[in-house]
Amino acid sequence: MVQKMESIWFDGRLVPWDEANVHVLTHSLHYGLGVFEGIRSYRLKDGGSSVFRLKEHVERLFQSAHIVQMEIPFNEDEIVDAIVETLKANKMPEGYIRPLAFVGAGAMGVHPGTNPIQTIIATWPWGAYLGEEALENGIRVRTSSFNRHHVNVMMTKGKVCGNYVNSVLAKREAVADGYDEGLMLDTAGYVSEATGENIFIVRKGVIKTTPLTSILEGITRASLMELAEDLGYKVVEQQFSRDEVYTADEAFFCGTAAELTPIRELDRRRIGKGDFKVAKHLQAEFFKVVGGENPKYEHWLHRYEV
Ligand SMILES: *Cc1c(COP(=O)(O)O)cnc(C)c1O
Repeated sequence: MVQKMESIWFDGRLVPWDEANVHVLTHSLHYGLGVFEGIRSYRLKDGGSSVFRLKEHVERLFQSAHIVQMEIPFNEDEIVDAIVETLKANKMPEGYIRPLAFVGAGAMGVHPGTNPIQTIIATWPWGAYLGEEALENGIRVRTSSFNRHHVNVMMTKGKVCGNYVNSVLAKREAVADGYDEGLMLDTAGYVSEATGENIFIVRKGVIKTTPLTSILEGITRASLMELAEDLGYKVVEQQFSRDEVYTADEAFFCGTAAELTPIRELDRRRIGKGDFKVAKHLQAEFFKVVGGENPKYEHWLHRYEV
């Protein structure tokens, strides 16, 4: 269960957690048209707090809305301010942030008509998404029997609510089969991403990640690519198949929720030596960045006071 906080920002004002409700004829509830973000704020080494890459997340929220032709009735700066306001109201020096824009009640046909676009921002405490143990020892993954969306079936660059039925199916399947996560292939059969994480592999010192074809363009992915290059690694965006993951020296997932989680096994094949050398290096550097210990990346931090 998500831990209950004091307030949720709802269409421009903070309302008590239990009063942030919608009608059952809310259009998005029936047809899945909505867009959301997953953002984290971290406690900083110097005692302060910051939201990691807040501007980029809010930008992507509006891009997702643009892709599916939803007009969010606020601008980006207003949403940035509202996020900080919500964190403060809930007295959260760190935690997870979930903005969501959805189509409200009105017309009930598939065409959303002129139904209002409603916007909420919720925050709650969330530790390691796949567990502390996963960050440390890596996870066991199976290739999903569900493909990641074809690029003309769903708009894969948007964090669009309905897209996540695909993720739920893959996640449930993986967990029911005793795995931690599912790896989805694209409709051509190449590796795409996980249910809410992008993937990287390391082979002979080169870090490889899937190109921006069918994947969600992760902000953690972009951050790690930049960080890795800065640390002297060679990073390439290139398609690869599942057996290239089997024979990789390392593989790892990344995302706002999952942060950087090493993959120990794919389809019962151990990956590399299991020492996660590069993954652990990047993970440590990533945590330094989000914790405000690397001045070079201060511009990725949106500081606030609780
Ligand atoms: C949110 C998400 C990611 C990770 O994106 P971040 O910006 O790093 O949080 C990757 N894949 C999918 C499908 C996602 O929904």
